[in-house]
Amino acid sequence: MNPFEYTRAGSIPEAVVAVSGEPNACFVAGGTNLIDLWKYDLTHPDRLVDVNGLNTDKPVTERPDGGVRLSAFATNATTAWHPIIETRYPLLSKAIGAGASGQIRNMATNGGNLLQRTRCYYFYEPQAPCNKRTPGSGCGALTGYNRIHAILGQSDSCIAVFPSDMCVALAALKVVVQVSGPQGDRVIPFSEFHRLPGDHPEQDNTLQPGELITAIDLPEEGFAQNYSYLKLRDRHSYAFALVSVATGLILEGDRIQEARIALGGVAHKPWRIPEAEGFLIGKPATRESFAGAADILLEGAKGYAHNSFKIDLAKRAIIRNGLMALSPDTQLPGARPSA
Ligand code: SF4
Repeated sequence: MNPFEYTRAGSIPEAVVAVSGEPNACFVAGGTNLIDLWKYDLTHPDRLVDVNGLNTDKPVTERPDGGVRLSAFATNATTAWHPIIETRYPLLSKAIGAGASGQIRNMATNGGNLLQRTRCYYFYEPQAPCNKRTPGSGCGALTGYNRIHAILGQSDSCIAVFPSDMCVALAALKVVVQVSGPQGDRVIPFSEFHRLPGDHPEQDNTLQPGELITAIDLPEEGFAQNYSYLKLRDRHSYAFALVSVATGLILEGDRIQEARIALGGVAHKPWRIPEAEGFLIGKPATRESFAGAADILLEGAKGYAHNSFKIDLAKRAIIRNGLMALSPDTQLPGARPSA
């Protein structure tokens, strides 16, 4: 039995006040990960502050600077199939459509997507050592079964990966995250939102206690002409990525004028190396060019007993996705609802 208090917030300031000073309070929106964590006995909130319904009348709005704002409280499904997102940011639409299942996308919110926790098996097993769940207890995956684990940015404390698809596209688009907290509002560049594990794998991101994600701002450029999201996984639906790649290109003839590449399923955060994108500028959009960018993205990659295959898989995926971005019509169809 885990008694808790439930409050429904009527506004963002009200939600922030409701969790302030309550270390065991937390926000709930779709609850698609929180309820799992609760069932697994991994979290025990004393107070739930329900933020469903805040700003959902405006899930996607065009900003005066040419960019677009996503409400953090809008569902993944509403966002992915919004005409502005499908038209101007199809890379994001495809990435969201590749995640989870239709039922989960109908419940999960944009803010919650950024906050989901790793799916490392040992994290969910209370008897296993896990520095992310119980700091200082060790890492069961390092010497255990680590097929789904990280090849980049890992530490001796944790080799978990971040499971989101949506966030891989957000990394490629270079968005910013709007948050509101007890100290006021602030903006976090997406590249600084998620953390590498280092010595503190229990901290997934750079949010401060009591801070609430309120919006995600997309820049004007959405790479709508040349983009591709490729997700490689054990089955074609309802499975997390072994490796995923989000690619956006701007071409001038056969030359690359601007490039963005982000990887999922390989690190504790979406993996993006700006030098790999700089390498592509001015080069022809060829297999050789994408292979060169892949080598930069994967520099220092290290596999373990069961996941070394990911290094070669990631290189092939980066090359293939770069070539697919030249003709987005060749992409696998997204998981668009039929009605
Ligand atoms: Fe825990 Fe991270 Fe090790 Fe998994 S990889 S057991 S989450 S410390």
